[in-house]
Amino acid sequence: MELMKPFATQNGEVVDLRSDTVTKPTIEMREAMANAVVGDDRYHEDPTVAELEAYYAELVGKEAALFVPSGTMANQVAMRTWTSPGDVVLAGARQHVLQYERMGSAINSGVQIVPVRDDRGTLSVRELEEQRDIFQFLGLPVKVVCVENTHMPAGGVPIGLEVLKEIRSLFPEAKIHMDGARLFNASVATGIEPSEYAQHVDSVMSCVSKGLGAPVGSLLGGSKEFIENAWKERAILGGQMRQAGVLAAAGLVALQSMRDRLAEDHRRARKLAKAIAARYGLEVLDPDSVQTNIVVFSHPDPEAFLTHLSQADVLGGSVAPGYVRLVTHKDVDDEMIDRTIVAISKAP
Ligand SMILES: *Cc1c(COP(=O)(O)O)cnc(C)c1O
Repeated sequence: MELMKPFATQNGEVVDLRSDTVTKPTIEMREAMANAVVGDDRYHEDPTVAELEAYYAELVGKEAALFVPSGTMANQVAMRTWTSPGDVVLAGARQHVLQYERMGSAINSGVQIVPVRDDRGTLSVRELEEQRDIFQFLGLPVKVVCVENTHMPAGGVPIGLEVLKEIRSLFPEAKIHMDGARLFNASVATGIEPSEYAQHVDSVMSCVSKGLGAPVGSLLGGSKEFIENAWKERAILGGQMRQAGVLAAAGLVALQSMRDRLAEDHRRARKLAKAIAARYGLEVLDPDSVQTNIVVFSHPDPEAFLTHLSQADVLGGSVAPGYVRLVTHKDVDDEMIDRTIVAISKAP
């Protein structure tokens, strides 16, 4: 245990609000990793991977699940599983699958993602309907609709169940894929069970490597048949792992014991949002709009803002031109938030 301490406290004084991906595995995770029973997952012989997959499948109310190295791969595997080259996919213009995967869907699946407006995190149902009809008319019925929950660029906004139901009824034939990288943040914030969200979609993915604190990995859930096909697509993308139980063990701890505490991150993000509103005004950021762990606001010079923060040992980031993003997570405590708020109060 002595050896583990330097790792666990590596962050030291720096307040790292760049992303919730920077979280370090807990001591409990490290112990679970050291003690994990493993086998070659290519031969379905890793019991810890199997346990993690079953646990996630149960949480999201799906028949089966697949452990993959990253959230990006989960989205890419889902896309390859649901589509053939030339298919039409609809997604929010600012969603991860469209903007942040280096056009992977075009490369790996040969599909065209048609963007619809998602300014405040919610897909425009009117535009979805419009695109549905246009491509239907052209003899290219929409194959997949992607939703993101929580929606990252809009500031971690959980998707509304009503919108989700509406999308389902607009697309009875298409597959709906939920990029639920932060599905558990959504669930904790709204009280809506992950399975309640997931029952309206055909496939769902979540990261254990973000706010839940595991070092590596994401899960993709769906029907048994979908997961059997996804298994092959994961292999094609090079994501077939061997004694992955070492990683899955940390993922299990993440899913079993790290979900409820996300509420703390949400409370701290709201505190940051209030400080932003106090400094720049409610037009820049309405603190009530911050429901989970992501604070996004427009700033005329994000670089200047972030440089100012870094001088106080606070790190933030930017995900689009003219926007600052601050993300809370388990390795940021109240004292660190207070220090950040002082820095914000004097920021340019
Ligand atoms: C982080 C993220 C992903 C991708 O996960 P990685 O593990 O970083 O590849 C996908 N979608 C959303 C919304 C994300 O925030």
